[in-house]
Amino acid sequence: MGTDKACRNCGFISSGQQVCPRCKTHTLSDDFTSVVIIIDPEKSEIAKRLNIKEPGKYALKVR
Ligand SMILES: [Zn+2]
Repeated sequence: MGTDKACRNCGFISSGQQVCPRCKTHTLSDDFTSVVIIIDPEKSEIAKRLNIKEPGKYALKVR
């Protein structure tokens, strides 16, 4: 079990990773707020606004 970390670059939340699985950057932070879970990016207004095309957990604010 790792700690959830959010990517500062794209907001994607992963667990137990050193590199963001989505954008492959090392900018992970465990200090984040406003988690959104995108299940169906096609039908989600938030996903469109954030330009998210894959389902997953995302943080809106990453410090
Ligand atoms: Zn990322």
